[in-house]
Amino acid sequence: SGSIMVKDLADQLGVKANELIKRLIALGVMAGVNQELDRDTAVIVATELGATVEERATQEEQEELILQGEDDSPESLTERPPVVTVMGHVDHGKTSLLDRIRATRVTQSEAGGITQHIGASVIEWHDRKVVFLDTPGHEAFTSMRARGAQVTDVAVLVVAANDGVMPQTVEAINHAKAANVPIVVAINKIDLPDANPDKVRTELSNYGLIAEEWGGDTIMVPVSARTGEGIDQLLEALILQADILELKANSHRPAQGTIIEAKLDKGRGPVATVLVAKGLLKVGDVFVAGSVYGRVRALINDRGQRVKSAGPSMPVEVLGFNQLPEAGDDFVILADEKQAKSIADARQERLKRQSESAGRGVSLDDFLQRL
Ligand code: GDP
Ligand code: MG
Repeated sequence: SGSIMVKDLADQLGVKANELIKRLIALGVMAGVNQELDRDTAVIVATELGATVEERATQEEQEELILQGEDDSPESLTERPPVVTVMGHVDHGKTSLLDRIRATRVTQSEAGGITQHIGASVIEWHDRKVVFLDTPGHEAFTSMRARGAQVTDVAVLVVAANDGVMPQTVEAINHAKAANVPIVVAINKIDLPDANPDKVRTELSNYGLIAEEWGGDTIMVPVSARTGEGIDQLLEALILQADILELKANSHRPAQGTIIEAKLDKGRGPVATVLVAKGLLKVGDVFVAGSVYGRVRALINDRGQRVKSAGPSMPVEVLGFNQLPEAGDDFVILADEKQAKSIADARQERLKRQSESAGRGVSLDDFLQRL
């Protein structure tokens, strides 16, 4: 439980410290300007003096309800592809593995087409889709999760068979565990003469990851990003893991998702890649993303093609933002632009107030929420 100083509370409420002290005395609390008030006292006196505090909370709650939209009935849900993040120690082969996985797709259908980079790729494997995020795993987990966004369904933990478990391997395991995301292990570089997959299995067992073939429940696939060995088995394992998770979403409702990257493009203005969590995102849709808003002018898929819509689990580049959003921001389709603008503006206003009061040390909103 926390406390707030009388003068800070007065500041936050926009009243004179004297006035606040009078109120406190009326409540039977004898306090000076430098005195700390406990939570209950602060809330009581703030409610008496600062009706706006209550109003703000209600308004924010209302906005959140609007953004949340309707709940999806179980019947409305259909299967969606898994979203996968690749994690692991530096140089264990994360980038090589992603490149190799992407190459399976290029040879299949694109005849050497150069793909535009949008921060995620959709792989088709035996009529099933798997979405890979390009963001280095740690960033995807730490920065996005810090902002309350969870976009990953499955983590691929890459461990080099000639090197074994290293500090960032352990970090990755901890991130995935904290996020409650299942891990599929790719024991990489098995083409090397000094590769020792069993040593990797043994080391991982010290961190609670027991290989299936050893009676545990972690799928571990020996692979080589260099030769391509085991890549099919890895994709198969990811599909299997997705089936276990029974990933589903309503693909007909107005879309919701998360910004996974954003940049200011010289020619096109603010563009961002959205990972759709549910619903169908369409050209012309009006949206709020964090504290910015807009109308979808164009959608571009991971192959650089313009598309009219994007469904659950799909990454898609969106044009039409009024300003640049941030990775980790929520992205929500709304019925009308006025509403989108008003919510974005209110959020921006709140952010501004928060950073102003952060400068002064205490934010009443934060304070009341924290306790
Ligand atoms: P990252 O830091 O985890 O993204 O690792 P990289 O993909 O950049 O790979 C680091 C180094 O390991 C590079 O020199 C790769 O060529 C090499 N490498 C990656 N995968 C394999 C593999 O399966 N076998 C071999 N022999 N080398 C690999
Ligand atoms: Mg890399």
